Parts: sequence; structure tokens; C-alpha cells
Amino acid sequence: MILPQIVASPSSLRPRGTKVMLPHGGLPEIFPPYLSDLIAKTGGPDGPIGRQFVARPELEKQYYHVGMKDPLMEDEHEVAPGLVYKYQSNINGVKKFIYQGRALWTITRHCAAYCRFCTRGREVGITAGQVGNSRAALSHTPHLLMDQIDETLAFIEKEPGLNEIVLSGGDPLTVNPKILHYVLEKLGGLQRIGKLRIVRIGTRVPIHNPLMIREDHYEAIANLRNPRMMIHINHPLELTAQTLRVLERLRRNCGGIVMSQTVLLAGVNDSVETLYTLFSTLAAEGIVPYYVFQNDAVYWAKHFTVPLPKAIKMWQKLRPMLSGVAATARFVIDVARGYGKIPLPEGDAWRVDYSKGFKDFHGNHFFLDYADK
Ligand code: SF4
Repeated sequence: MILPQIVASPSSLRPRGTKVMLPHGGLPEIFPPYLSDLIAKTGGPDGPIGRQFVARPELEKQYYHVGMKDPLMEDEHEVAPGLVYKYQSNINGVKKFIYQGRALWTITRHCAAYCRFCTRGREVGITAGQVGNSRAALSHTPHLLMDQIDETLAFIEKEPGLNEIVLSGGDPLTVNPKILHYVLEKLGGLQRIGKLRIVRIGTRVPIHNPLMIREDHYEAIANLRNPRMMIHINHPLELTAQTLRVLERLRRNCGGIVMSQTVLLAGVNDSVETLYTLFSTLAAEGIVPYYVFQNDAVYWAKHFTVPLPKAIKMWQKLRPMLSGVAATARFVIDVARGYGKIPLPEGDAWRVDYSKGFKDFHGNHFFLDYADK
């Protein structure tokens, strides 16, 4: 079910911009003509694409005073501009690496469109003149400045435990191509001298607006060794001819290993059939399904949460239907204030008493709030 070329037409939906931002700022309703046309062709604002991008202000602000903005505690783990390094701890005043290696780096707070359920809605889309209320670098500037980029690169180079960088949203492919080229050339250089083993690029630009990807982007990405292209794809209707062409070029021109990340969203993709079509199509197109996330506990996205018992049942039903090469995704919970992504068992293959909860990788025990689901 691959859609034909999307051609933006004057009748397509017009986004409302900053008028419908979240109460604390962030997540303006912005989407490019390409996406606007895709929304119009797939059921409008109530279709599976429209629900991801068209704001529903009443639903999004109902938990404003009680809900969380940064459940993964990224701001307090920022160790250099935009760089979140969570897998280390201070134990009795001594810095100790528990699960060392990976750090997440955000270089901009802009995206090509704004997903209403975004985990980083605390900062993405905050307009240029506005200052956020955390100490994080991107709370004070829409893009990292060159000296901030250099400061973070120097930190990465010197930090002994660090060997993997995940560039993540705000979308790195939206920054000025010259700056993107600079960052990726430096990271590629750190790969070449053996300092970094892996660089991942998390992006949704191939979905939001594949027409925006230019030769400079492919050239910049080609600076990396085996770049992992982590494409956020939630629904099979996002896989248009233009999008697939970009994903193909990322593989062929940049040597990219293209993987998908999916957020489970009520009213968007919470059916076995939709996920079956998504993963089967991805596998057929040479893309590796990687993660399915239970959506994070941010206040503006609670209406997207699929009750966990339903999610677990879907996951159990889906796994045996899929070819092994399409069943490579893990369904995970990135638990609030926890460390790491906790995978759920699949295929109903083990007797698991979910009511007993689970532990994160630090041994902290969590109970799933079934009553709330
Ligand atoms: S592209 Fe990623 S960072 Fe940007 S709004 Fe969507 S989920 Fe958030």
C-alpha cells in the first residue's frame, strides 16, 4: 500500500503555527505542504497522519498542571551543550560508569514538522526569541552555536567511557547543511581514529518532507562510517514513493543502515493489522524495524497512550504473524525516571506476571499503573 507521489495542492490543510502551542511553549502546529497534502489524502485531521500533527489544544493541555515535561530527566543529565549522558552515576561522590558508552546529542530544537506526542515537546519548536525554563543549552538558543558544538565535540573526544553518539530530535537534518556537514565530519573523524564506534542519526525529515533532503545531506552523512539512520515511522501510509526513494539513497549513497523507530499511538497505529503492514513493508523495502515505544509520560500526549494490557496483547498476537526479518523490533518502555529501555516479552512465549512490574537496568523496581490504563 505505497502511496503515489504526493503533490502539495492549494486545498491542503493550513497549519496554525504558534497559535496552538503547548501552554509552556513548544510544539507549534507546523507542517510543510508535502505533509499537509499527505494528511489531506489519508483522512484529514482525524486520519492516522493528521492525528500525529494537527493540534488538539484541549486534550494537550488537560494535564498541564500535574503531568511531566521531562520524564526521562534529560535536562539534568546534560554534560555539555546538547549532550545527555545518562549512563553514569555519582555513587558516594564518586563518578562511576554503570552502563557507559552511549550519549544523546541534540543540536537544534527545530524539526520539519512537530509531532503532537513528542517526548521533547518541552523544547522542540520553541520560537527563536523565547527562552525555556531549564538550564539545558537548547532552552536558551534554537540551535547550538559553533563554540557550543566545538565544546561538545571536545567533551566527546576526552570522555573516556564514551564510544557512541545518538544525534536526535530536534531534527539534526533540519540544521544548516554546512553545520551538519561540520558536525558529521568531526564525528566521522572520531570514528576513524577509533574513539567512536557508532554514530546514529535519529530523524523524521524523510517522513515530514522528503523533498527537503538534498545532495548536501547525503554528502554530510557519507562522512560517517556505517551511519545508523534511525527513521521515526509510525504508519504504513507514511511510506510514500518519495520517502522510499530517500531511504533507498541513504542506503546506497551513504552506506547507511536504515532502521525504523515507531511510537505506539492510540488512534494512529494501535492495531495488529496496521503494525503488521508497517513492519512487513519496512522489511520488504530493506529497512530494519528496530524499536516500538510505549509513548512517554509527557503531559501533552496522555491521550495517545495505548493501555498497556492492550499493547501487550497486540504485541503477543503480532509476533507470530511476522516473518523473522520483519520481527526485529523490540517493544520497549522508556520508563519515567528509569535507566534504559525495558523490553517486553513477545509472542506470549513466557509465563509473565505483569502485575509484579519490572526492574530497570539499575535494579529500580517499577509497577505498571494498570488502574490508569
Ligand atoms: S521529529 Fe522527533 S523531535 Fe521532532 S517533533 Fe517529531 S518526535 Fe519530536
